[in-house]
Amino acid sequence: MSVIDEVKQRIDISEVVSQYVKLTKSGRTFRGLCPFHSEKHPSFFVYPERQSWHCFGACNAGGDVFSFVMKKEGIDFGEALRLLAQRAGIALPSRLEPSAKRDEQERLYQANEAAALYLHNLLLNSPAGEKTRSYVASRGLSPETIASFQLGFSPNSWEALKQHLVERGYTEGELLTAGLVIETEAGGTHDRFRNRLMFPISDIKGRITGFGARALDDSLPKYLNSPQTPVFDKSNSLYGINLAAAAIRQQNMVVIVEGYTDVITAHQNGFNNVVASMGTAVTEKQVSGVKRLTKNMALALDADAAGEEAMLRGVGYENTLDAEVKVIILPGGKDPDDVIKEDTKMWQKLLEEALPIVDYTFNMVTTELDLTKAKDKSLAVDKLLPIIAEIKDTVRQAHYLQKLARLVNVTERKLEAALKGIKPSPGKRQVEEPKPKAIAQALRPVFSSPVEEYCLALLLQHPELKGYPEQPLPDYFQNSENREIFIAWQQASDLSSLRDKLDPAIWEHLDYLITKSLPPNQIEEKYADAALRLREGFLRSLATKREAALALEAELGGTAAELAKLEEQGIEVSLQLGEVFSKKGSKGRSKGAEK
Ligand SMILES: [Zn+2]
Repeated sequence: MSVIDEVKQRIDISEVVSQYVKLTKSGRTFRGLCPFHSEKHPSFFVYPERQSWHCFGACNAGGDVFSFVMKKEGIDFGEALRLLAQRAGIALPSRLEPSAKRDEQERLYQANEAAALYLHNLLLNSPAGEKTRSYVASRGLSPETIASFQLGFSPNSWEALKQHLVERGYTEGELLTAGLVIETEAGGTHDRFRNRLMFPISDIKGRITGFGARALDDSLPKYLNSPQTPVFDKSNSLYGINLAAAAIRQQNMVVIVEGYTDVITAHQNGFNNVVASMGTAVTEKQVSGVKRLTKNMALALDADAAGEEAMLRGVGYENTLDAEVKVIILPGGKDPDDVIKEDTKMWQKLLEEALPIVDYTFNMVTTELDLTKAKDKSLAVDKLLPIIAEIKDTVRQAHYLQKLARLVNVTERKLEAALKGIKPSPGKRQVEEPKPKAIAQALRPVFSSPVEEYCLALLLQHPELKGYPEQPLPDYFQNSENREIFIAWQQASDLSSLRDKLDPAIWEHLDYLITKSLPPNQIEEKYADAALRLREGFLRSLATKREAALALEAELGGTAAELAKLEEQGIEVSLQLGEVFSKKGSKGRSKGAEK
């Protein structure tokens, strides 16, 4: 969950507003004097169920808790977020800290970018890179692949990269922080990567965060990575994710392999939903990282590693994803790289035959045992029952309990009793404990607004829509982060300047919208339809709010004048809704019915 949603979940709008406004509760609604304009009769309403507010007086403004605090305190979205997060006791991740830190990170990305470009050119053109060039060619990598992965060559020199970057204005300190150089005992610095084939590692936004490097002679280690830096955390990175994200979404499936070349070969052969964990163990952070793209995951591991993964962490991944994880078993110690090169159909077949990780664990445990023997039966139960205990999904848990019962020929009831005695061991990965208040929060509305998001995704992904005559009003976006993005979109000329206008806390949401998969054609029509639905949604919610206000006003003995004013606004809303319906009618019903 994003920090923004977390704040929304923890904060109750009526509590926040009542710090500024004396509210009177009635039924499901609160009323008070509007804090944004001067009035004697209260026309300001708060709707806890929708976590929103509206002034039916002179302002005729409304929104969610963020827009309320922004308006009341005269601050921007980021400041409101920080204020509310503090109130809710939520620590903001450091990457969302404001400017100074962001600038530092930006420099590191740029330094990595400059390094990647330099090393890539050396691989393509330098005489010293000849050996590496032929190595890469001998591995069957095409020039297009080498370019899209921006492979590079770091020369056998202590200073080549450092000098190149210092000449471009980077300080030794920055290069040290970026992990591109290392400190010597004498107090100087020299290049970290020497005489290696270089694999730039990018985040999902395509920013280069670090490097992987393969030795070209027998130097050790064979593979060397960037160290942990402010922009690089290996346990949080998936190699190839920048090139794979679209395919992962589209195919609704991610395949995780171990090595750089496995990813590269897969992509070159059209398997674009493949990324690498850059090590044998997949981490929980990596799993969470792809969760937004898809819930369906297959791990392609050699048999030994797969076994270990399955036993130790498999169910933890499943609980994180809230879905089954599959295992692709590679034959005879081969890498995906080898398999794909030999026979792409074979790879396709392995994908199709991938086993659910728990089934795989069952096979692994039971092949070593003789289940006609009592001793081996109890061994199987000892090994498998704790794994079953970890499964959060009750239906799948029951399924495997049944399977185990049948295998060892014991009644399910007995196993169930044993299961109750097992607490998932603390060493194993588990889904975070539910936070306090979780139950109350579960009753809160879902924060995502599909129509708002669909409309924004269209605008962001199709710059040509900027010239489209009928644009929504910022007010139509009831979620503050969507509203912020829309306003920034109106002002910005391109995506990168749009990003600069936004608080970093919103970037995650922005990236989600930018990479959201959309229908391929008739964009203008789809957009017109979405914009209309957005307006309709806004008007409808306004009508509902107005009715609640009207009921409360009547109940609290509002004067005829006030009631009349609300009635009048109601008529206005109905008129506008009528307009929306007539436009919808003229478009025909069947078009653009994305949900
Ligand atoms: Zn007002």
